[in-house]
Amino acid sequence: MAAKPNILEILAKRIIIGDGSYMNTFEKRGYVTAGLYTPECVLEHPDAVSGLHKEFARAGADVIQAFTFHATDGMLQCSESAKNYNCFGNDVHIYNVFINHAACDLARNVATSYNLLVCGGLSPTPTYTAGKGKAAVQAEFEKQCQVFKEKDVDFFIAEYFCSIEEMEWAIDVMKNYNKPIACTMRIGPVGCMDGISAGECSVRMAKRGADIVGLNCQFDYNAQLKTMKLMKDALNEAGLSQFLMMQPIGFLSPETEYLVEGYSHLPECMLAMEPRILTRWECRDYARKAYELGVRYIGGCCGFESYHIREMSEELSEERGFRQPGKDHNLPFAAGYGQSVYEYDRQKHGRDYWMNLIPKTGRPNSAAYNSEKELIH
Ligand SMILES: [Zn+2]
Repeated sequence: MAAKPNILEILAKRIIIGDGSYMNTFEKRGYVTAGLYTPECVLEHPDAVSGLHKEFARAGADVIQAFTFHATDGMLQCSESAKNYNCFGNDVHIYNVFINHAACDLARNVATSYNLLVCGGLSPTPTYTAGKGKAAVQAEFEKQCQVFKEKDVDFFIAEYFCSIEEMEWAIDVMKNYNKPIACTMRIGPVGCMDGISAGECSVRMAKRGADIVGLNCQFDYNAQLKTMKLMKDALNEAGLSQFLMMQPIGFLSPETEYLVEGYSHLPECMLAMEPRILTRWECRDYARKAYELGVRYIGGCCGFESYHIREMSEELSEERGFRQPGKDHNLPFAAGYGQSVYEYDRQKHGRDYWMNLIPKTGRPNSAAYNSEKELIH
């Protein structure tokens, strides 16, 4: 049997395209409760979860993240539908373990068919926010990591952390499992909620044991590119050379770039974000700029649908050395438009037309940005 691919060996040779949005996408599809954002749909609707994994696989993702986000006792206790866990003897811990097991199995099934990597993920805990201390927080991480070990995921990720301290506690736990470790924080150019700069966060993650460091969620790709540059410079200055990773939101939110919690300050977040969704052409712009900055793991977070990931894979297909499957597999960029029977479509032929387009919202009363007083603080 061939040795399993190691993400660090792959990254040393070529870039990796990540997958996209799960929680946000499942909420839109009716499988997750808005506002609570917990992943019990892996047990309740496994076909829906497998379906989205397959969409990302077919779009060209190299990695399938098991849907273990917020799958901790603390988060599930807050969840309305977790009350169903009475079938698990009212034991939220057992329910949680079942969710993590199911999530890893669903991810592995799809990853195996497409020869992709599987990643098990940790996320911030309410136990930390409640100040219950290091041992209690690490016990929550340990429960998930035990499942990831049993399911033999290919690497671990700790994502969406806004406190470098909680992130370091997560790294300490992950290090005991002898798998590559990726760490991404939900921070922008102003740094984390502990008041630590983005650059220092990246150095602390690297020194603590992360192999891949970067950002996910809360900020759009323009803001994350700026933050990533700060992290890259700080790592260089410290003589560190961890791989860089980006998974921004699939929306534009320029007016919240310098706020600690990013797009959460938008009045529209999360349930009225549609006018801000990235076009596929902005996804190409993101993928290209991230690549040029030296980011090796380029994926998406909330709002990144499979067609966004597909566009990023397509943009970087030459650099990756292959193209994902698709109907226009042998055609360059929007070339089908050049063959349309309709004149108005033929005028939209080619990369330049789409890359230079500034889309309108179609809403006469919509403004480009919120004013400072409209933002939620
Ligand atoms: Zn997100």
